[in-house]
Amino acid sequence: MNKEALDLCSQEPIHIPGFIQAHGFLIIIDKDGIINYYSNNLCDARYQLPDDLPGRSILSLSRFFGKEKDSTFIMDLIRLSWQGRQFKPINPYVVEIGGSYYNMILSLSASGENYILDFEPEASDLYSDPQNMVGASLSQMLADKDLQTILENSVMQIKSIIGYDRIMIYKFHEDGHGEVIAEDKGNDLETWLGLHYPASDIPKQARDLYIINLTRLIADVNETPVIISGNMNASPDLTHSTLRAVSPVHIRYLKNMGVSSSFSVSIIVDNQLWGLIACHNYTPRFINYKQRETAKLIGQVLSSCIGLRNQEKIQKESMQLQTVLVEITRNLLNDSKTEAFIENSAQTILSAYDASGIAFLFEGKIYTYGNTPDDEYIPEISMLLEKNHQGLIASADCKQDFPSLNLCSSKYAGILACRLTMDLKDCLILFRKELSLTVKWAGDPTKLVNYDENGQPFISPRNSFEQWSQEVKGRSKQWTDTEISTLLEIRDEINFAVGRKTAELRILNEKLRDAYAELDSFAHTISHDLKTPLTAIKAFAELIIRKTGEEDIKRMSGKIVDHSNRLHQMITTVLEYSKAGQQHIDSHTIDMAMLTEEIRSQLLIKPLNENLQLDIFTTPDLEGDPILIFQVFLNIIENAVKYSHKVEFPKVSVKGYRKNDEVIYEISDNGIGMNSQQQSKIFGLFNRVGNIQEFEGSGVGLAIVKKVMARHGADIQVHSTEGKGSTFVLTFPIHSVA
Ligand code: ADP
Repeated sequence: MNKEALDLCSQEPIHIPGFIQAHGFLIIIDKDGIINYYSNNLCDARYQLPDDLPGRSILSLSRFFGKEKDSTFIMDLIRLSWQGRQFKPINPYVVEIGGSYYNMILSLSASGENYILDFEPEASDLYSDPQNMVGASLSQMLADKDLQTILENSVMQIKSIIGYDRIMIYKFHEDGHGEVIAEDKGNDLETWLGLHYPASDIPKQARDLYIINLTRLIADVNETPVIISGNMNASPDLTHSTLRAVSPVHIRYLKNMGVSSSFSVSIIVDNQLWGLIACHNYTPRFINYKQRETAKLIGQVLSSCIGLRNQEKIQKESMQLQTVLVEITRNLLNDSKTEAFIENSAQTILSAYDASGIAFLFEGKIYTYGNTPDDEYIPEISMLLEKNHQGLIASADCKQDFPSLNLCSSKYAGILACRLTMDLKDCLILFRKELSLTVKWAGDPTKLVNYDENGQPFISPRNSFEQWSQEVKGRSKQWTDTEISTLLEIRDEINFAVGRKTAELRILNEKLRDAYAELDSFAHTISHDLKTPLTAIKAFAELIIRKTGEEDIKRMSGKIVDHSNRLHQMITTVLEYSKAGQQHIDSHTIDMAMLTEEIRSQLLIKPLNENLQLDIFTTPDLEGDPILIFQVFLNIIENAVKYSHKVEFPKVSVKGYRKNDEVIYEISDNGIGMNSQQQSKIFGLFNRVGNIQEFEGSGVGLAIVKKVMARHGADIQVHSTEGKGSTFVLTFPIHSVA
């Protein structure tokens, strides 16, 4: 819709027109009954009113109201209308003025400072009394379950009651423009059913007045409005006056349509102006106050009926979506893996939301189903959620609402997105495709603003009502409130489940840590305590050997000593292993050149093979516990030497270097090597692999190394080929590097 036209229309102060419609009179008095304003048609000689009305008391108009002896009844009526702090006038009060009967309609001005007295003819252009007909009509109107049929019945019934040439139900869309959704009319008139009218036809301030005044009568568009006089500078606020004159723009608009009289009844649903029962007549027509009140009743019944049907629709939709929520909650409970949950839920959400695609951004990964834009768009939408929209976007026109996204407007016209977990980037996005739609306008809605000779814009009501079709592109079906609120419920469920899983994992980790510590200290205690009885066993076995003369017993006791020695050795290594997990890490910068040199000299004192070539290349320093790191390097280099000493020319090398955020050491040998299956086992406690009977060892060294490395946040890997040699790669993170 043309924004300029809307702005201009909404600026017109239609509640203070300075005029009333010519079929009645108006008097405005203050709280003490002093006349502040009056309509100029009261100056007619017939009414014998004094010239100086403003400033006089209403009580001084004694001869004006025919049979009433004086005008004290007005002040009495006002008094009676106050019920506590509420003003509830009993309207209308019939008075005689100049020999004719008038309905006096009393109201309180918008400011609450004045009382407005509207005097309208009591006689009406409706001959039958709608009050008698309304009972039967209402039951006929509501005789169907389907809302559209109810609306169609309603226009027919209303037409039969008030007899206007054309009766329409005019529904307001979200952007303020209207559509005729039901119509009954004389046979000679062309239909307006299905036509759309721009928002400027009934601008915002007019729509606001329809909420305050539930009926509005324009009796004759051709009558000349009557000016209001008074002793105040400003024109009075006629928000509550039934006679309020009509905006000249609207009068011209009606004239252009050929309409002479218009009557409308508001349809209010959930305190919002849902639409109007709009009645047009092609000759002037006046409906009196009581009859208008009856029409108001019809409007109210229709309003609550629409409200009820809306409620039913929402309830139905809500129940459907609740089943989705239940399914998703079940998925969350059943599927421990994110992938499984997303996969199972995606299809459910897609079909329930009538969406064409769905995307999840979860823990840095993107999951998409159905028609979704390229992955690179998903983080962009997530950023939008993060920045501007309190974690929620519901748009049926992405191209207009988020032009920076640059999404294909036909495939992804609408998006409904919300943040998921506490991580602001995690989100769920639903996509809807374009809904191709043709709107039939009653005239070209873009040609509403004209310009005067000074270039100033002014609103000119359309004089052409020729149908004008417009293809609406790039818009999807609207996301309903229920759909949006259910999505937020889905989000809460996911949040709850993720939170619960994180907590479970944390508790599990803590338990595991405690269990490890317990196990370590258990191993330490038990291996330590085993040593004492073992020493006793060994001592007694040795005593038996010394004391016995029998060879058999000597031999068997000798075996006890051997096995005791082995057990002692094993206990010692277990103690070492558990110590590696418990020992406090005393971190320092380690001079690696010195450390490796010391190992080298230790190993070369009595080499297993005289031909051993042990090369130490670059040795960048490390940050760590010097004793433990020494143990690591000694173990690895010692192994390299040990498992290569059978080759003719054993070669062992140590090489360190920095790479990105890490210091890496590679210790290589040309020894027996291992196959890949064996490689996967060597870091386990007591694991020895391959053909190693002729190599001494306990299978504990690498288990200790692995533990010490982990405690330094470092990593150890092995690359090896059976019969060719092995390379152990030790990777230390930079924070442990000097
Ligand atoms: P061990 O005391 O047996 O050497 P480790 O824990 O140090 O125990 O090593 C575990 C096993 O890994 C060894 O028994 C051996 O099978 C294998 N291994 C370790 N280092 C090498 C190497 N450099 N070359 C080949 N095999 C090795």
